[in-house]
Amino acid sequence: MAYINEIREAAKLVLSSNYVVALTGAGVSVESGIAPFRGPGGLWTKYGEPPMNGYRRFLADPKGYWEERLGPRKRRRLGIPINEAKPNPGHFALAEMEGIGILKVLITQNVDNLHIVAGSRNVIEIHGNSYKLRCVDCGARFDRDSFDLLELPPKCPNCTGVVKGDAVMFGEPIPSDILRKCKEEAGRSDCILVIGTSAIVHPAASLPLMVKRSGGVIIEVNPRRSELSDICDVCIRAPSGEALPVFVLELARA
Ligand code: ZN
Repeated sequence: MAYINEIREAAKLVLSSNYVVALTGAGVSVESGIAPFRGPGGLWTKYGEPPMNGYRRFLADPKGYWEERLGPRKRRRLGIPINEAKPNPGHFALAEMEGIGILKVLITQNVDNLHIVAGSRNVIEIHGNSYKLRCVDCGARFDRDSFDLLELPPKCPNCTGVVKGDAVMFGEPIPSDILRKCKEEAGRSDCILVIGTSAIVHPAASLPLMVKRSGGVIIEVNPRRSELSDICDVCIRAPSGEALPVFVLELARA
């Protein structure tokens, strides 16, 4: 295996750290058949990026947003319908790392719910979860199926605010509770695994930098170089579904 030395080195770093967190991105779900947005074969590369003012358009016309969401075009976007995607060995390996007490928290940019399905418990979904809805006023989150949708847009039962999908749109601020938690966790961490993300989208991209600046280490798992590669302590050049199960074995053996 071409990257076994890197895996061993990464295992040593992880085992000598006090508070390990992981940051995951689209690359982790590619092996589950969910096409990434950016890069070769990405949906935005192929079909163009969604409108940069998506959130403003939603605020201007929440009813129109809901009619479009419920309309026939709604499932066009993802390679495999998100409902049929299954976690892959990379997701399961991360859940196992949490189970054995090594991984403290998993911060994901993915909205596909696959980390939760795989058994990860302490998950922060920085861009939301497409199985949930969220009130734009009080931030309360709800199961996707918990509204009858007879009246659009649905209203929050707590504060009567307008409810939208939890997944964060272009131009929409990251919910403040999530942002605060991310910064707290990165502030506490002395080792961050950056997995399957090109690390260009802020604020997620700033979390590894926070860890590094406070003297911690960055371990990258990505088949390709990223913006972060130059400052990583170890780079494992492999898809996460392949590398992470080997990594967990190495941790267990050490
Ligand atoms: Zn509300």
